[in-house]
Amino acid sequence: MAAHYLGGDAATTGRPKALLLRGDAVSPEERKLAELLTVLGVSWQVVHIGEIAGLCAEGPEDSTERFCVLTSASSVALLVEGALNPDDALPEWMIKAESVYVYGFTAEPASQRLLRFFTGDPTAKVRYVRGKQVFLSVSRDFPAICGPMSGIQFESRSPEKQPVFDLNVRRESLHSILNSNHGHLFVSVKCRGAHLFLSSSANVIDVATPCSKYFDVRENACNTVPIVMYGRWAFGVGEASEIGACLIVDDPLLKPRYGFLRYQEALRLMDEHNFATTVAFIPWNWRRTDTRTVHLFRQRPDRLSLCIHGCDHTAKEFAERSTEILNKRINVAAHRMRLFGTRTQLRSDGVMLFPQGAFSESAARALKLNGFVATANTEVAPTHQDENKTTVGDLFGRTIMKYASFPMFTRRYLAHGVENFAFDGLLGKPCLIAAHHDDFAGDARILLHVIAKLNSLNWKLRWCSLGDAISRCCSIRNGSDSFPFVEMYGSSLVYKNSQGSLEGTIFKKEEEDWQHVQAVTVNGLSVDYLHHGGHLRFEAMIPPNQSAEVRILYCAGPNLASNEESINYRAKAVLRRYLSEFRDNYLSRHAYLHQGALRIKEALRL
Ligand SMILES: [Zn+2]
Repeated sequence: MAAHYLGGDAATTGRPKALLLRGDAVSPEERKLAELLTVLGVSWQVVHIGEIAGLCAEGPEDSTERFCVLTSASSVALLVEGALNPDDALPEWMIKAESVYVYGFTAEPASQRLLRFFTGDPTAKVRYVRGKQVFLSVSRDFPAICGPMSGIQFESRSPEKQPVFDLNVRRESLHSILNSNHGHLFVSVKCRGAHLFLSSSANVIDVATPCSKYFDVRENACNTVPIVMYGRWAFGVGEASEIGACLIVDDPLLKPRYGFLRYQEALRLMDEHNFATTVAFIPWNWRRTDTRTVHLFRQRPDRLSLCIHGCDHTAKEFAERSTEILNKRINVAAHRMRLFGTRTQLRSDGVMLFPQGAFSESAARALKLNGFVATANTEVAPTHQDENKTTVGDLFGRTIMKYASFPMFTRRYLAHGVENFAFDGLLGKPCLIAAHHDDFAGDARILLHVIAKLNSLNWKLRWCSLGDAISRCCSIRNGSDSFPFVEMYGSSLVYKNSQGSLEGTIFKKEEEDWQHVQAVTVNGLSVDYLHHGGHLRFEAMIPPNQSAEVRILYCAGPNLASNEESINYRAKAVLRRYLSEFRDNYLSRHAYLHQGALRIKEALRL
C-alpha cells in the first residue's frame, strides 16, 4: 500500500504516523511538504486517495496505530464531495485520524464549498491578500500549538496571490490560530467527529533551496508557520522541556570597561532583567586582564562566562582551508587560553565563535578533531562559495551539521526581531543573541526591551553560558519498548534521564569522521560504539533523574610544530587589535571619527 516510506521511526516513537494523501500526479507542493516533514524529523508515508478508505478499514477494530493525515484541499475535495450534504457523515478515515491538516485553498467554487462544509460557516470565503505585507497575530489560546510564538504579532512579506479565509470565528467549533489584517491563515475546526487544521496557503517552503543567509520568518511566515506549528503539536517537532538562552558579546577584554560595556553595570542589568552573557574572548588578549573584572567572572558564573573568539582575530583567519595552518592557529589559541586559565582560574567553554563569522569546512573539521565542542555563528554559509552546502532545511534543524558534522548553532542580532527568536524556539533551537559593546549604549534600552519580550514568551527559557546551552542541546525520542533515543550534536552532551526509564539510553550522533574517533565516554568511562548509516551509536545506563556527561574524543592527526608566524602577520595582528580597541573605546561615540577608523582599517586590509 505504501508508495514511499521514510524514516521508519513513526511506529516506534509513540507518536502518530504522518500519512500524505495524494492524487495520481504529485504536485511540487506535495513534494516540498514531504521534504519539509523529513527535515522536521517526521516519518511519513504516501497514501493514494483511492487507498485511504481501504487502509483505515483494514486494521482491526482495536488497532492502536495512530496517524494524522496531511493533504491539499484539492485532493481531499475529491473524497468528501459526496459528503457535502449537511446530513452526511465524513469519511471514516477523517474521524479515525488524530487530526487532518488541509492546505492550499483557492477562490475556486469547489475549494470555497469545502471550506464552508468544514467550518459550518455558510458565508465563508477564500480571498487573496492585496499588497506585499501582512500584519500577523498569533493566538494566545493554543500554547501547545503556538509554543513561544503564542500571542506575538509581527509583519511579514506576503507572497503573490496569498489566500486567506474570510470566516465567522465566533462559532464554538472554530478557532483562529494565525490571523492577519486581511483574513485568517490557519484555523482549527471540529467537524463531525474529525479534528481539522486548515491552512489557507497553497505554497510550502522548499527546504532544498540553497541559502547563504539566515532564515527570516518575516519573509516566509505564510508558508512556514502553520505547518511548523502543526508539526509541533501533532508530531512533537522541536519538543524541548527548556530552551537555553545566552547573550554573546563579541571582542571585549576583561577590563572594567570596554566601549559602552561596563561589566559591573552589565551584571546589575542581568540580575535585574534576568539574562546571562558570554563574552567572545580573543585569545590574543590572554595577558591583558584586570584582576577585579576577572574576580567578577569568578564570582558570578551564573551570569558571566567566556567562549573563544578566533585566535588573533585577523580577517578571515578561520576561512583558511589549509589544515596545517588551521591546526597551528587552533593550537596557538588553545595554548593562550591555557595560559589565561592559569592566570585567572577562568575556563572558557569549548565553543568557537568565528571572527566576522568567516569559516571554511576545513576549519570546522580541525576544530572538532582538536577537541572543540561546537561553534556558534551569525553566518550560515562558508566564506568560499564553492563550499556552500547550506539549505533552508539546515536552518530548521537545531544546528547545521553539514560541515564536517561539527555543529554550527545559529545566533541572531537583536534586529532580527523577537518573532525570529520565537520561531527558532518553535523548532527547539537555542536562543542565542549576537551583540557588541555598543548594544549597551543608551542604558541598553533596545537590548533590555528585546530581553523583556523574550522572557515573556510562552517557553521555559534558561539563561546560561553559551557552552551550557549547547552542551545540553539534544533531541529526545521515545523509541520502541519505551527506550529513549537521544540525538546529540556537539562532541559533548550533558544528558538527564528525565524519562524515569530504568533501561539503557541509546545515543546517536551524525559523524563523517568516524575513523578519527578515539573513544566515547560516559561519565569518564569508555563505552562501546559503532558507526552505522553516517551516525555513531552507543548505549549507556543512566539511572532515572540522573545526569550523565557524554563525550566523543577524536584524534587530531599530525600537528605541525607551532612555527612562528611571519613578522608581517604578527605586526598586522597587533595593529588590528589596537585599532579595533581604539574604535570601540574612543571612536564609537563619534560617528565621523568612527568612519575614519573604518577607512584606515579598510586601507590596511585588517
Ligand atoms: Zn569579533
